[in-house]
Amino acid sequence: MSERNLEQLFIKRSQQKKKTSPLNYKERLFVLSDEKISYYDYDPEKGKKKSLKGSIELEKIKCVETVIPEDNSPPERLFPFQIIYDEGPLYVFSKSDDIRKLWIRKIRHVVRFNKDLMQKYHPRFWEDGVWRCCQQAVKQAMGCQVLETRNGGFANKSHRKSRKPLPPTPEEEKPSRPLPPQPPQPPPQQGPCPGSTVIAEYSYPPMAPQDLELRKDEEYTILEMSDANWWKARDKYGKEGYIPANYVTEATSGLEKFDWYCKNMNRSQAEHLMKTENKDGGFLVRDSSKAGKYTVSVFSKAGGETVGMCKHYNICTTSQGQFYLAQSHNFSSIPDLINYHQHNSAGLVSRLKHFVSNRVESAPSPFGLGYGVWEIDPTHLTFIKELGCGQFGVVKYGKWQGQHDVAIKMIKEGSMSEDDFIEEAKVMMKLRHQNLVQLYGVCTTQRPIYIVTEFLSNGCLLTYLRETLKGPTPIHLLEMCKDVTEGMAYLESQQFIHRDLAARNCLVAANGDIKVTDFGLSRYVLDDEYTSSAGTKFPVRWSPPEVLLYCKFSSKSDIWAYGVLMWEIYTLGKMPYERLNNSEIVDKVSTGLRLYRPQLANERVYSIMSTCWREKAEERPTFEELASNVQDLLYEMQ
Ligand code: ADP
Ligand code: MG
Repeated sequence: MSERNLEQLFIKRSQQKKKTSPLNYKERLFVLSDEKISYYDYDPEKGKKKSLKGSIELEKIKCVETVIPEDNSPPERLFPFQIIYDEGPLYVFSKSDDIRKLWIRKIRHVVRFNKDLMQKYHPRFWEDGVWRCCQQAVKQAMGCQVLETRNGGFANKSHRKSRKPLPPTPEEEKPSRPLPPQPPQPPPQQGPCPGSTVIAEYSYPPMAPQDLELRKDEEYTILEMSDANWWKARDKYGKEGYIPANYVTEATSGLEKFDWYCKNMNRSQAEHLMKTENKDGGFLVRDSSKAGKYTVSVFSKAGGETVGMCKHYNICTTSQGQFYLAQSHNFSSIPDLINYHQHNSAGLVSRLKHFVSNRVESAPSPFGLGYGVWEIDPTHLTFIKELGCGQFGVVKYGKWQGQHDVAIKMIKEGSMSEDDFIEEAKVMMKLRHQNLVQLYGVCTTQRPIYIVTEFLSNGCLLTYLRETLKGPTPIHLLEMCKDVTEGMAYLESQQFIHRDLAARNCLVAANGDIKVTDFGLSRYVLDDEYTSSAGTKFPVRWSPPEVLLYCKFSSKSDIWAYGVLMWEIYTLGKMPYERLNNSEIVDKVSTGLRLYRPQLANERVYSIMSTCWREKAEERPTFEELASNVQDLLYEMQ
């Protein structure tokens, strides 16, 4: 966490100390310093802060959280958050979700050791003498919702909402006009709640008896969300059952049913996707970082170049509420606008020729193979091709029930202590995060036993770094690091130690996301060369001194390995300490040798990896802190 102050213009809501006093909203310059958050009157013309209007001492803060926006909130108030201190909540409205997230994270970090941190909060506003969430009429009433995280933690975001659009680079975006009255779009991270309407982005044929079939583009009502991954829902015929939460999206913008619309996709993901498709005129529409706005991203190989370029255009709106990309062509709806530009470039680098989408190709992996299933019937598996061979034997790509992609590890007899693993698999099934390879289930009624997991079509990260990635951008490399920190921060929060984190144990999804795999599996390996720190297969190059010397594994030894993994990413897959053999590494690393700064890593990046290699385990950061540092750096780079 950097020590510098943060400054930001926000809208602040008056605090309504008396029940009946009217609310007002004023723009204030907020400054976060080491001791307090102060807010000032601001002169937009001179760009200067004027008189101090108030301040909150950091040590009095009890909670910082988002707030669900007001019904019909205007576009400038779509991203509220609350700072709760001894005088109650202070409501602040951010221009974008990214800025809001940054502030929440920074404040949580500095208040994480405060005495009176709350465990419950009110997700909606206090207004006219009642809490809008629970209708309690006492301002001091205990919160009605348990905080997902406490003490400075950051929320494990739901799998669909992990990537928020980052602010676009201004030069490439057209100047935006004031927003017309538009249906407000709630910030994406709020997500649906019971009663919400969602749209199926993919069809889902039921896998287990309690499941409900999903038909692409149809609407469903959410009934219950007690399991984060399998929601109970009702279709339009009144049929009820469980659906995989990652197959639906909340109906907010009305664009969800169009294949060219990629909700929750950021600029660099869009570029990655379009470059991978490498088609002239490839395009997609994504949420702009400005609330309620959209951006058209287009890929062009104008002039027959082999390397194409990406352009990003804001969809602008006229004062009459019409949409346009090029001034003289206005449309009453975004689909009409897209339809027009599919036939006419009219000022764009290219006509919109082919939609590019990461969803049409294949449905995401549901979280398991049906609600509550973990023992898989091996006759439901079809083997398609061999993916590789690992410590436990052959890994194959296949289908479950003929349609769902899966990876199947066929455990060579004698390579694993199977009973212990099977016991542990029940725990591992419950680990769920968008940056962890999902364990779907096991086949244990025959030999060899199978471990069935999510399949990632771009394979192992190490091979991807060495062979596939050509001229990666600094943002792309850092985003890969970020994916790993988030998956690992989740494991850390579950007190689960990976023990073999390295690029070879990460996989790459079709859209470029990175997921960590094989967590905890090394405990079940029956092979002394692998399990003994003196063995030839032991991950010496990824191990800190305390593991090499005393076999002391912890989340902090995972942190060390993460630093080495980051180094692998920035060297595009070099072997760490390539000139040294294992016993030289043990000697030199325990006496202070560290990996050098890779050419692609700047000083900031190198300092992040270096913190992972601190001699004393307790001085290394946590994954949560790493995730926050990496996110900050990414934010600055956008
Ligand atoms: P083991 O854990 O037995 O050592 P690995 O995890 O190394 O086996 O798997 C061997 C190879 O199979 C990997 O290098 C990777 O290319 C491929 N592979 C493994 N799991 C998956 C998966 N879930 N999706 C896609 N490819 C995979
Ligand atoms: Mg492996």
